[in-house]
Amino acid sequence: MKKVMKLIIVVVLSVFVVCCGDASSDKTPDSDVTDSDSETAQDDAEVDVDSPPIVAGALAEQCEAQVGNPRVIEVTPGLFLATGYDLANTILVQTDDGNVVIDVSMSPTRAQQVKDALMAVAPGPTRAIIYTHSHLDHVGGASVWMEEGTQIWATDAFFGHLMKQYGSFRQAETKRAALMHATDLSLEVLPCSSLGKRVDLAAALNTGVRKPTHTFSGSTEIEVGGISIELVEAHGETHDQLFVWIPQMGALMPGDNYYHAFPNLYTIRGTSPRPVKEWIRSLDKMRTRQPEFLLPSHTQPVIGQALIQESLRDYRDAIQWVYDEVVRGANNVEDLDSMSARIKLPAHLAVKANLQELYGQVDWSVRGIYSSQMGWADGRADRLYPPANVAAREIELMGGAQAVLDAAKSARAKGELKWSTHLMGKLRDSGLLAVETLNPELAASYEALGLSVQNSNGRAYLLQSANVLKNGPMVLGKPTIDEIFLETLPIETFFDVLPARLKANETLEVFESANFQ
Ligand SMILES: [Zn+2]
Repeated sequence: MKKVMKLIIVVVLSVFVVCCGDASSDKTPDSDVTDSDSETAQDDAEVDVDSPPIVAGALAEQCEAQVGNPRVIEVTPGLFLATGYDLANTILVQTDDGNVVIDVSMSPTRAQQVKDALMAVAPGPTRAIIYTHSHLDHVGGASVWMEEGTQIWATDAFFGHLMKQYGSFRQAETKRAALMHATDLSLEVLPCSSLGKRVDLAAALNTGVRKPTHTFSGSTEIEVGGISIELVEAHGETHDQLFVWIPQMGALMPGDNYYHAFPNLYTIRGTSPRPVKEWIRSLDKMRTRQPEFLLPSHTQPVIGQALIQESLRDYRDAIQWVYDEVVRGANNVEDLDSMSARIKLPAHLAVKANLQELYGQVDWSVRGIYSSQMGWADGRADRLYPPANVAAREIELMGGAQAVLDAAKSARAKGELKWSTHLMGKLRDSGLLAVETLNPELAASYEALGLSVQNSNGRAYLLQSANVLKNGPMVLGKPTIDEIFLETLPIETFFDVLPARLKANETLEVFESANFQ
């Protein structure tokens, strides 16, 4: 397909984004972000939470111990980790014949800072880039590292997975991701994202991702400067994940299949189901390599064979436990709400530092695993035919909107924050309160609950949602795709996205055909 045609279609898509996107602003109180590049964008609004308390506790400790200031660590001679610069780490293997770089940050802006720091200690040409998987925080800065002849390695599944992020559900995923990564919360309220430095969404709009030059399935080996590097396909956090094993260094790079927090078996920003059982198998495969150094793409390295074995074992056991408990519950005809409230990690795993629910969460995982296997229906007959206007009718039974609002405020004052938020959600669904009355109270309940949550994703989502209620939708710029990347995009992606962007209701009786050549 000719580039000109792609450019035309990109323009067409952009037009539809503007005309059909969030402009249909019958905003529900929770409507969150827009996709517009309007000049009202909040560049880097500092704080919008009234009297923000300094976060203390597990999240603050995680930010200090597992993220920290930007720095380069030489983990073992020739193996460097740049950490604290972005959400994901960059790992560099220095050889006599040049460097191999594993994961390249989310944006060219952040990647340049990483490259400058790494080149100061490990100068050399970039012989190869390895993408552990296609999530944007691992690939967006590739352009900064590319030189003449640089190879880019990834699994065969990589490109299809990358394209999904630009597919039909991109706008929905972007809006939820923006809430989860919270662009306008202060560092006092959200010091890090548990796995790394908070993302710079504005910088990431300008992607420097490059298509892999070499892909494989199963496993493969590359050799650079006398160092052989094994790449092993290892599904888990994604279907396109790999791990990197360098026997000469005793070093294993697990990508996102291991980091220092309970794994995100399901992400609240919304993606298709994660292959949890394969994740367990991938961790087992890593254990067989018996590494001395484990360098995850998020959080800090684990050093020493015994500690790594324990860490990987606990991690796989925790995932296996949650998975098996869901299977047991489902087979016992336990409904999903009961299951997600009941299932906890066993005591010997719940105390482990690398399994704290600061990024992933057990109850979200239970729901993710269940629905990936059983779909939305959880076996309850009473849920098959829900009545209309449930919330309004329930609230009338509860004594009316004012009584429920009073109860929600009083619950908040007593510290019953989940209950208060639940009641406010019901009030919102009922439509019985005017938005001017509802929104400040709903925001207050999100805020109180958010500030009590140590999981950085849940905390950010609640606090940013409160900001949206108080200040209006977040304004996000549009992603720009440079010509080099545009050249590599399959035309099918554009045609796949196009129908959902049309104003279908206005054209139901229009019969036109277009012929693209
Ligand atoms: Zn990641």
